Amino acid sequence: MRIKKSHSAGGNISLYSSIIRKAILPLILKRENRGSSLSHWHFFEGSQYWPKQKLLDFQWLKLKELLKHSYLTSPYYKKVFKERNLTPDSFNNFDDIVKLPILTRTDLFDYPTEILSTKFTESEIHHVVTGGTTGQQATLYRDQESFNIKQGMAWRHEGWMGKKPCDRMAYVWPAHADYQAESTWKTKLKNRYLIGDSMYYAGSFKEEAFAGHHQDIMKFRPKFIKAFPMPLEAFTQYLLDKKLKTPRLVGIMSTGEVLHDRQRLLFENTYDCPAFDMYGSREVGNSSSECAIHEGLHIAMETSFVEFVNDGKSVQPGDEGEILITDLTNYAFPMIRYQINDRGMELVKSCSCGRHLTLMSPGIGRVQDNFYTPDGRKHSGIMLLFHTSSDHDIKIGQIQIVQKTLTDFHVRITNKPEPNQDVFDFIQKQLKNVVGENINITTEVVEELPREKSGKTRSVICEIDNLK
Ligand SMILES: [Zn+2]
Repeated sequence: MRIKKSHSAGGNISLYSSIIRKAILPLILKRENRGSSLSHWHFFEGSQYWPKQKLLDFQWLKLKELLKHSYLTSPYYKKVFKERNLTPDSFNNFDDIVKLPILTRTDLFDYPTEILSTKFTESEIHHVVTGGTTGQQATLYRDQESFNIKQGMAWRHEGWMGKKPCDRMAYVWPAHADYQAESTWKTKLKNRYLIGDSMYYAGSFKEEAFAGHHQDIMKFRPKFIKAFPMPLEAFTQYLLDKKLKTPRLVGIMSTGEVLHDRQRLLFENTYDCPAFDMYGSREVGNSSSECAIHEGLHIAMETSFVEFVNDGKSVQPGDEGEILITDLTNYAFPMIRYQINDRGMELVKSCSCGRHLTLMSPGIGRVQDNFYTPDGRKHSGIMLLFHTSSDHDIKIGQIQIVQKTLTDFHVRITNKPEPNQDVFDFIQKQLKNVVGENINITTEVVEELPREKSGKTRSVICEIDNLK
């Protein structure tokens, strides 16, 4: 058990956030059709303390509802049920879920419109840009209510580190798409001064950018930082090297990549506050998070059904397996047993915080190396993946980028879907944009990406040991 002292919320800014949260946030949410987020949040604040059986019963009810809805309104699932002689009545307990096939990213490529529920009109669904962290981007959709439920759950998870909605949080973020999404001044100002969010792009570990971020963060005075650990590690190292003042934080939330112990220690020592690991993805939203006791990540059982499998068979708690997630909230685009391409395990123990939400440990997977530009500067591997997977018109399988020397890169691409010349051109172009024109790129089409001994696949591998 690891407990790190928290700072108390400081002064005027807290009072300001509290006023905004109570008086203005409900109005903003209502105007944006997000009003129900607050009631979902209040519900989850209560349900987190339910007894285990009540949580399981609720989860089962949600799963059954989703199965029925998918069978009745999603052409893809209608076909899948029919081919297997199934109806929603064929499912009597959680174990029966294996009667349905695993949903892969390739399925998202092959059946984007078939998976979509016929119950929603085009104006009722949002297109979601999937994460590029495994080198492959697909089309999927989400309905507004699903976003609202997930927002309520995100607030509960953030609450475990002491954050309430509208408390100020700085995002140290390598995903340029998110950064661009708030490109209008109006959105930026609303996010910064009302919602309490400020974004800092940290895909490239450039000193000039870090200097600007530091200045602005000290002005913004966030109480929390949410970050991918690699970019935050680079930023933190920069602050230490330059002996710069650090913001006075209450908590740090790490997501998107594995949070290594060395990073947790660095963050906790530098900012003198606890770090919380949160696990999720763009496809299925946030799925589990650490509470203040830090004994594992509590699965958000009310909104997600999480399985761990090996060769298609469930593994016992305590055994590592491939993570499958069923998003219990997305009725527009049902995702049942979605293969998220990470490995992890359900923990046998329960948490001493008293919550009965099942514990899991992701920890395995999503480990990327950093890479270098020819001038010897270090950058986030995740950033490279975002840039090589962000084109809607070009379908790319999973990719692995291996840096051999400062100027030599080798790219492996899986053959599903079979890459055409456009794919090779796109990867050449994007890599050169990010790394530099004067690099050599070789490509190779493979059936499957090579796995490490631990079972994980790394999407960015840097073989330049002496610079690491
Ligand atoms: Zn706990």
